[in-house]
Amino acid sequence: MQTPFYALTGVSVRVVRMIRVYNTLTRSKEDFVPLEEGHVRMYVCGPTVYDYPHIGNARSFVVFDTIRRYLEYRGYRVTYITNFTDVDDKMINRANEEGITVQELAARFIAEYYRIAEELNIKPATVNPRATEHIDDIIDMVERIIKNGRAYVVDGDVYFDVSEHPNYGVLSKISPDELSAGARVEVDEKKTDPRDFALWKAEKPGEPSWESPWGRGRPGWHAECSVMGAYYLGLPFDIHGGGQDLIFPHHENEIAQSSAAYDIETPVKYWLHNGFLTIESDKMSKSLGNFRTAREVLDNFDHQAVRLFLVSGHYRQPLDYNTQALQQATQSVERLRNAVDTLRGKIAILEKRGSGRTEADDRLAEAIDKLVEGFQREMDDDFNTPGALAEIFSFVRAVNTYTKDAQKTAVLRRAYATLAEVLGVLGLDMTGSGRQPGGEESSQQIEGLITLLLEVREEARARKDWATADRIRHRLKEMGIVVSDTKDGPTWKLEL
Ligand SMILES: [Zn+2]
Repeated sequence: MQTPFYALTGVSVRVVRMIRVYNTLTRSKEDFVPLEEGHVRMYVCGPTVYDYPHIGNARSFVVFDTIRRYLEYRGYRVTYITNFTDVDDKMINRANEEGITVQELAARFIAEYYRIAEELNIKPATVNPRATEHIDDIIDMVERIIKNGRAYVVDGDVYFDVSEHPNYGVLSKISPDELSAGARVEVDEKKTDPRDFALWKAEKPGEPSWESPWGRGRPGWHAECSVMGAYYLGLPFDIHGGGQDLIFPHHENEIAQSSAAYDIETPVKYWLHNGFLTIESDKMSKSLGNFRTAREVLDNFDHQAVRLFLVSGHYRQPLDYNTQALQQATQSVERLRNAVDTLRGKIAILEKRGSGRTEADDRLAEAIDKLVEGFQREMDDDFNTPGALAEIFSFVRAVNTYTKDAQKTAVLRRAYATLAEVLGVLGLDMTGSGRQPGGEESSQQIEGLITLLLEVREEARARKDWATADRIRHRLKEMGIVVSDTKDGPTWKLEL
């Protein structure tokens, strides 16, 4: 068995440089040093599973998947936790509207999340915990907060006492005065301070509820994430991610709860937040009629192009969704596929012929080193994916220029492996499913089978059995093999 191309990945020369990350907590770029050497523990707020994820949600999934992949590329083991919020007001309202249970609603949209994650090539998380699986742990945390004098109980509700928390506002940098005056804080006569928030909500008719020391009820949203992060990663952990809209109050409250319950001043070392996604320069909203679900976008565009679009901007900047941007991404994907195919084709030819070394091989080898260096430099700088893509496209130009005259299989294989590797970090797979070279033998067998099928089809055509001929062509197409009839007979290629 010959070594598959992909076994050569990881050959890139690693440069010694720190990864720098922008930490919302300090509002500055910092050297990334995980708390435990070689191991990164990371929590990302997952979806509330009450509706189809929109393309802005998909951006968040892709951003943090890319960051995780880069950390793995740089040799870290990453424990990646992303949750499902499967009980909250929005879920209860929607389930009541549809006359189904909250669990049924959750099951439907969790399944939808997994479909979208697969289409966007998002790596499975280490664990995808659901809030309702951790009710006892949430109760335990709330009890600790009460015991530490930082929460109070009113009629079966439990509220966090913000006035008792010294560094409230540490993440959002919102001062107590702004908070008290803020229209965002709901007026609730049960709270002693308008800034206080619910850790536990007393049961209301028609809502799911669990037994607790304060009577039946359900957890507050913020409490869920604090508990799942601490449960799977321990405190403190390295990275907490989410959209910018979660900085306040969700993440501010998470810090307050975890600090108050477990007596840790800084429960998370690095807070990373991705920017908003706009639609044709407008904020996406149902009332503006410009709302795009991830499903809709994935049904209309090549999945690789959607992923490429979502990493085409820096993760902290706003990103604008528009048809032109998606068309551009589609063209970019085409260029990447062509480069990958060019290399594959040349490697296949040389394997049959043997090779020497030419000037083009040397230029290509230089371009590989430049790609590795440039890609790492950009990604080390707070995961600058647009910069990384620019390096990749500069390499694609080198591939287009030098591959024709290159003769050295080792250089071409390294070009192929390096390109596939860096694209893989961005979650792009231009080798296509089933196209990952599985060694010479398997690909020869497949070629043999296709040739045999085409011979059978030619015989069917010769006896005017169009139904059989069409069926073979159709079934091959379903398998991603496109047959074209030329004047020299049928040819086939893999559809990418
Ligand atoms: Zn969360």
